[in-house]
Amino acid sequence: MGSHSNDGLESFVKIPTIKFTKLFINGEFVDSISGKTFETIDPRTGEVIARIAEGDKEDVDLAVKAARHAFDDGLWPRLSGAERAKRMMKFADLIDQNVEELAALDTIDAGKLFSKGKTVDIPHAASVIRYYAGAADKIHGEVLKMSNAFHAYTLREPIGVVGLIIPWNYPTTLFFLKVGPALAAGCTMIVKPAEQTPLSALYYAHLAKLAGIPDGVLNIITGFGATAGAAISSHMDIDAVNFTGSTEVGRIVMKAAAESNLKVVSLELEGKSPLIIFDDADVDMAAQLALIGILHNKGEICVASSRLYVQEGIYEKLVEKLVEKAKAWVVGDPFDPKVQHGPQVDKQQFEKILTYIEHGKKEGATLLTGGKPLGEKGYYIEPTIFAEVKEDMLIAKDEIFGPVLALAKFKTIDEAIKRANSTRYGLAAGIVTKDLNVANTVSRSIRAGTIWINCYFAFDNDCPIGGYKMSGFGRDFGLEALHKYLQVKSVVTPLYNSPW
Ligand code: NAD
Repeated sequence: MGSHSNDGLESFVKIPTIKFTKLFINGEFVDSISGKTFETIDPRTGEVIARIAEGDKEDVDLAVKAARHAFDDGLWPRLSGAERAKRMMKFADLIDQNVEELAALDTIDAGKLFSKGKTVDIPHAASVIRYYAGAADKIHGEVLKMSNAFHAYTLREPIGVVGLIIPWNYPTTLFFLKVGPALAAGCTMIVKPAEQTPLSALYYAHLAKLAGIPDGVLNIITGFGATAGAAISSHMDIDAVNFTGSTEVGRIVMKAAAESNLKVVSLELEGKSPLIIFDDADVDMAAQLALIGILHNKGEICVASSRLYVQEGIYEKLVEKLVEKAKAWVVGDPFDPKVQHGPQVDKQQFEKILTYIEHGKKEGATLLTGGKPLGEKGYYIEPTIFAEVKEDMLIAKDEIFGPVLALAKFKTIDEAIKRANSTRYGLAAGIVTKDLNVANTVSRSIRAGTIWINCYFAFDNDCPIGGYKMSGFGRDFGLEALHKYLQVKSVVTPLYNSPW
């Protein structure tokens, strides 16, 4: 059922004072024009942490004006790549110097594990900036082999002012997966963090200024999707919008882009990723992967392996082990170093997950463990495993974005491939087998942007992730992501003689 450890809340670490609560436009923290604010809530308790400036269309207009000026006057794009890299490196160093405070902000805002924030998420953010800083002075086109008497080459130029709309599940990582390559490319930007998790983004704006990123290059508009977010995706003076979030909102963003100025769109959306465990797998290792695949970040990760397919020969042993591990999983205050799993991000998400659990029960899936909320206050849910899940059940079709696993048994490789592909999504998939031929065959047959063989969540700055099908298009991570912020210009001049 997952044990609950929530005693002594807030006794593990000093909760930081909230220093930044205003919009960040043109290098200054400012109130919203309307003067409106909204509450950001601590999911451990349901209590208000702070009131944050609520940006709207007029604020987005101001931010775009600042970003446009910083771009068109060349304050950032015309700095040398080496100079941009130098300031980005300083930005990364400043993040490293404030790791504890930043990790604590994401813990109180998103319920994320403080221990992971301190050792993984925040240092990783610094490494993402350094990775892209390393590319900033290596952005170039190529000389073309023309078939007629012309000399031609391409230039890779920054796409311009970009709108970056991000969700709440990785407030830091997703911020830098967009801001890192955008800065390296020479773009200027307006970032809209999720309304649930605005705190760390505002802190990063402060660090960017200290690092010497010029005013107007990085602007942050906190606020809601239907107002601030929509103002970005429909803005006539933003050149590209890069969105991570739900498939439903992705569709709205794309429509707004089409109906405004046809800005370039890239979408990182939902997933319902399968993990396939074959008979020859090591039971303990496979059970551990399956557990982490669904419970990491309390299931609030787009590439979670929320569908588990286990071959019949290993099924009984594996399920027994998996359930045993899920029952021992520690849910509680994310500041507690013993805890493996904090609260879901907010009341809405908490209730949505519990509704899906009820659907699972009604649709006839077998509840092996979990299924209930935990604790007196806050948004904690037990690790939950349903077996005998059929493809037409809601818990197999929809992204739940919580600690709820849909498990099923299969016989043959072909059946596993067919069932793994029976989804409208295509973000990731996992395969556990010692047989190289099986692993290679299945990898090629699954329509998803990332395949992990005998591992899961094996992220790397150099390794792109992104969607097939309704999981979106465009890639984060790697040099692939840099290209989302660049466009190619061809320059052609005549030659006196034929080129060959
Ligand atoms: P969401 O779609 O509700 O919101 C995402 C962002 O879009 C927020 O900043 C929100 O304010 C904004 N938004 C909402 N309505 C908008 C509108 N009409 N116009 C413009 N912007 C609008 O998603 P969420 O609940 O915050 O995040 C969870 C989702 O993110 C999950 O579905 C998850 O799969 C997805 N996600 C995907 C990836 C990926 O790489 N594919 C990574 C992380 C999360």
